[in-house]
This record gives sequence, C-alpha cells and structure tokens, in this order.
Amino acid sequence: MTVLIGKILWLAGLVCWCAIRYVPYRRSRRIATVIERDRDREWVLMLISFLGMILVPLVFAATGEPRFADYAATAPQIALGAVLCAAAMWVFWRTHKELGRNWSATLEVRERHELVTTGIYGSVRHPMYAGYWLWMAAQALLLANWIAGPVGIVAFAIHFFMRIGREEEMLRQRFGDAYGAYAARTSRIIPRVY
Ligand code: SAH
Repeated sequence: MTVLIGKILWLAGLVCWCAIRYVPYRRSRRIATVIERDRDREWVLMLISFLGMILVPLVFAATGEPRFADYAATAPQIALGAVLCAAAMWVFWRTHKELGRNWSATLEVRERHELVTTGIYGSVRHPMYAGYWLWMAAQALLLANWIAGPVGIVAFAIHFFMRIGREEEMLRQRFGDAYGAYAARTSRIIPRVY
C-alpha cells in the first residue's frame, strides 16, 4: 500500500511539473535566441536527465520493474517525500514566474534578455536547480526501489555539475559587471553555503 501511495504522489508531482512548465515552454518557443551555448552537449545532458528523472521512474511506476531492487518503504519516508515534492513544485512555480520570458530549457540568452536579481533570485542564483534537487530527493523517497528512486539524483547531478559553470560564464559574458556583482552577493543554491 505504501509503495502504491508513493507512486501516486510521485506521479502527481510529475503532472504538476508538466503543468507548471507548459506555458513557459510554449512561450519560450516564440522568443528569439541571441546566444545558444553548447547546443549538442546540452541535448545530451537533457537526454540523461530525461532518462534518470522521468523515464526510469515512469517504467517503475507503471510496471514495477526493476523488481529485484524493491524494498519496503515506511510511512514517514513517503510523508517526507510528499513534503519535499510539494516544496519543489512551489519552487518551480515561483522561479518560472520570476524568470518569465528569460527562461529556456537549454543554455540560451534570449532576445531582450533581462538579468533577474530580485525575489527568490535575490538570495540564490539557481533556485530552479535547487527545486530540482528537492524534487529528486522527493523521488528517491517516494519510489521504493533502489534503482528507480535514486537514479534521478545521479542524472540531475551530472546535468547540474556539467552545466552550472557554463551557465554562469554565459551570463557573465552577456551581462558583464552586473552579473559579477550579482554573483558576488549571492550563493548558487543554498544561501551562504554553496
Ligand atoms: N539557473 C537558473 C535558471 C535555470 S533556466 C535557476 O536555477 O533558477 C536556464 C536559463 O535561465 C539559462 O539559459 C539562462 O539564460 C537563464 N538565467 C539563469 N539565471 C538567470 C537570471 N538570474 N536572470 C535571467 N536569466 C537567467
């Protein structure tokens, strides 16, 4: 029963994430791109993320595979997963609202791109990625399987660490000292820690 509840909550999170991204995604396709960084590398990273963060968990939720890696989940584990998942969804909603038309799925500088440095972006430079860490922690707790649960953390870690430096470099290139000053007074994902 706990396993099923975990799967249902995980699916609710996925549906929520798709709903939050739908409008920004449609809008982003209509805005011209000024700089596109490392296009091929970005798509490989997107594919890795898709596999670990969505496909493998989805296969587990739908078919129960890979069964050999199943374990018994506890109610507190599922409850904590649900809380983290809800927090992640709130962060996605907030960050999409604040980034607005400046958002893109891969590394891009858009036409009339503005540097957002207020609201949630006033304390950390990558709150949306913080949301993804939260979501993947939630996924690891909600899916009672040693592979389908934590694989998202691994996939996102690859994506995050292979992207973050280049994203900052791209914004520094576009916004110069304004980005330097912004970076000097903010952390990446955890205020005052990292
Ligand atoms: N790293 C950010 C945004 C992720 S979306 C976060 O985690 O919240 C990725 C796109 O957002 C990049 O292509 C970049 O152009 C844009 N971006 C990142 N930080 C930004 C900021 N502070 N202001 C405006 N655009 C930003």
